[in-house]
Amino acid sequence: MPRLIDGRAVAQKVYAELREEIANLKSRGSIPGLAVILIGDDPASRTYVRAKDKMCRELGLHSVKLELPATTTQEELLARVDELNRNQKIHGILVQSPPPPQIDEAAIVRALDSQKDVDGFHPLNVAKLALDDETGFVPCTPLGCLRLLRESGVALSGANVVVLGRSMIVGKPMALLLIRKGIDATVTVIHSRTRHISEICHRADVIIAAIGRPHFVRTEFVGEGATVIDVGINRVDDATNERGYKLVGDVDFDAVAEIAGAITPVPGGVGPMTIAMLMSNTVKACRQITSSSTPG
Ligand code: NAP
Repeated sequence: MPRLIDGRAVAQKVYAELREEIANLKSRGSIPGLAVILIGDDPASRTYVRAKDKMCRELGLHSVKLELPATTTQEELLARVDELNRNQKIHGILVQSPPPPQIDEAAIVRALDSQKDVDGFHPLNVAKLALDDETGFVPCTPLGCLRLLRESGVALSGANVVVLGRSMIVGKPMALLLIRKGIDATVTVIHSRTRHISEICHRADVIIAAIGRPHFVRTEFVGEGATVIDVGINRVDDATNERGYKLVGDVDFDAVAEIAGAITPVPGGVGPMTIAMLMSNTVKACRQITSSSTPG
């Protein structure tokens, strides 16, 4: 059996590090603050927002949860973002995706103070990622995947890494991170127009699957001993489950686990790391904002 990459355990390690840094910031009079805006009542979004708020409280961060009605207009939302941009107790702002259809999400992201954009979606932060500027914010999920790979001792320098998916949330920033000088992976990005996907994947030392297709990555995609990171979270019907569904990844875990050298489970792999990296980005935002406003 392969080594299981335990996202919950790595997330706990991240929290231990953050607790030290939070204590340090508090001793200098700063409490990192995160504001999460939820528009409407999508049940999955509500669950994510609750988990973020709970984690903030566990770490002793200042947490603000803004729950706005599904009828909120673009102007109303922009006004709330503006208030939070100017609120000195708030260092990170996140608008839970997906917003209702009347909201222009890209315009909202552009309206965020980029120094508080802990999701890393603001154009300035996207540019900073491409420019290897460490003051920027990297989206939480790819940042979490990188930390999992590092904690697992996977050699990335010169490694052949295949990233499945090119979204702005996962695939594209993941590829940009991996080709950074100092990380030095050789990256192939796969999308819906890519041909010969299983052959390309089969040559990879590391496969990172983020396409949102249940069990897409099967045994014929995976070379003996490869590391497999499964970002996918997909609902599939399951009559044996009282909710009527279960969550599975983009990887056919049971079969691929027979071949892989190391693999993340779903749940318990990438998911816990995404929230850990959100906390980490919030603490970083507080550190950066506080140090830039401290005289001298
Ligand atoms: P997305 O925006 O829908 O992007 C999916 C990407 O996969 C696109 O680039 C698409 O290609 C590609 N793709 C789709 N079907 C394909 C196929 N059959 N063959 C090859 N490529 C294909 O999804 P996302 O937001 O990146 O999320 C991906 C998955 O990760 C979802 O299951 C999501 O729930 C999960 N996720 C998990 C976390 C976490 O914390 N664990 C966080 C974020 C997302 P095109 O660009 O050509 O359309």
